[in-house]
Amino acid sequence: MEFESVIGLETHVELSTKTKMYCGCAIEFGGKANTHVCPVCLGLPGSLPQLNKQVVELGIKAGIALNCEITKVGRMDRKNYFYPDCPRNYQITQDELPLCRNGYVDIELESGEIKRIGIERIHIEDDAGKLLHTKRGALIDFNRAGVPLIEIVTKPDLRTTEEVTLYLTKIKSILSAAGISDCKMEEGSLRCDVNISVREKGDEKLGVRTEIKNINSFKSVEKVLNYEFDRQVEAVKNNEEMFVETRRWDEANNLTVVMRSKEEANDYRYFPEGDLVTLNISDEWIEEIGKTIPELPHEKQARFIKEYGLPKYDAHVLTLTTSMADFFDEAAKLSRDPKAASNWIMGDISRLMKAESIWIEELKFTPNDVAELIEVIKDGTISSAIGKQVLEDMFESGKSPKTIIDEKGLKVNNDEGAILEMVNKVLDENPQVIEQFKAGKDRILGFAVGQVMKMAKGQANPGIVNKLVEQEVKKR
Ligand code: ADP
Ligand code: MG
Ligand code: ZN
Repeated sequence: MEFESVIGLETHVELSTKTKMYCGCAIEFGGKANTHVCPVCLGLPGSLPQLNKQVVELGIKAGIALNCEITKVGRMDRKNYFYPDCPRNYQITQDELPLCRNGYVDIELESGEIKRIGIERIHIEDDAGKLLHTKRGALIDFNRAGVPLIEIVTKPDLRTTEEVTLYLTKIKSILSAAGISDCKMEEGSLRCDVNISVREKGDEKLGVRTEIKNINSFKSVEKVLNYEFDRQVEAVKNNEEMFVETRRWDEANNLTVVMRSKEEANDYRYFPEGDLVTLNISDEWIEEIGKTIPELPHEKQARFIKEYGLPKYDAHVLTLTTSMADFFDEAAKLSRDPKAASNWIMGDISRLMKAESIWIEELKFTPNDVAELIEVIKDGTISSAIGKQVLEDMFESGKSPKTIIDEKGLKVNNDEGAILEMVNKVLDENPQVIEQFKAGKDRILGFAVGQVMKMAKGQANPGIVNKLVEQEVKKR
């Protein structure tokens, strides 16, 4: 019997708003505990929420970017539960009328196959505070209480860890490029509830699922999926009765632990939030928001392949961040040699950035300088070896390639007389070149050329050097 996983994700994403969802408190990650709070987000009696318009706007933006229908007449609902980090004893979320429905994202599998992952719904809701368990007991920081979230719920369309990773990577890249969220998993801006069941391959019917709460790294998602798959397959094989359960990932022991089973499931007693008005969203507003969505990374990738003829690999790497893609785009246009621009950015420029741990937006030179570098190599002003040296200088000083070439006197030597002198000097010093050449070993010419280039500190025109080496060797 061969089994497969059926996986659905509920992903919570913190929205990039300046202030909280129902009050004017500022949002700041890592701020001093309980300094960004007010009666509203502390849930004090008599305080009234006001919905932050930017939350709805970013929610709609996410919906459009993920191909959803937008719910034009919607509302907020109360989800009732008691927990110390939830000061009102209810969360203001959306139940029956989520802001966005029926969307999808396409992922490209290793095999090249495009798979469509359905998105059931996206709703807006507020985050809870943070509990800190210390030796003195549990402490609460309410700075996060009221921070706006969207929850993106997929259909049970995912099958493997590869697909889950691709899906998460894709929504991350879309949401951050569109300015909806910074998606920093390490700061908890993006976290997932993972739903998984198993079934025999070929079965239509879904198995009994477990939900593993609050996973906040790709690595943990993978571990959870592998662990649950093995556990559930084992249980099915042993004919154990399966329960719909909520579990938690125990990182220290590498296993999932039951938090609550169906019988203990929360009854949230959802009902409409009477302190907030109905959401009425106009077509004009949706259209306006749609226009603010920039070209998304996967769209850029497709354009780089189509318009610039870039290999898929280059297009993929260059669109991993918007700033890298924009830098390349400009260098490609200015140089009119996209492949050369790609090679410089993916090669030497990335290497230097990595060595110095800096981002592309921190470079001292511009895409125009890269275009100039490509140009001076093409027109033979400098060799490509010297080009690498010029780039290192650009990296340090931010000066343009032409300035560096002038200041350092790096121009290629096209003076045949001077090059001829060097060629003869090299041949005098290396008699074995002539011997080996006469013995039929043509490859020795490469060595002689290398020696001449070395003598010229890389600044001799390689075409002339090649020509003169061959000519002189044959004469001797
Ligand atoms: P709830 O609201 O109780 O969390 P939902 O029906 O909204 O339940 O489903 C939550 C997530 O679980 C969705 O992403 C959905 O695709 C996924 N899911 C539902 N049934 C299954 C199943 N049998 N196996 C795996 N995932 C499932
Ligand atoms: Mg759920
Ligand atoms: Zn507040």
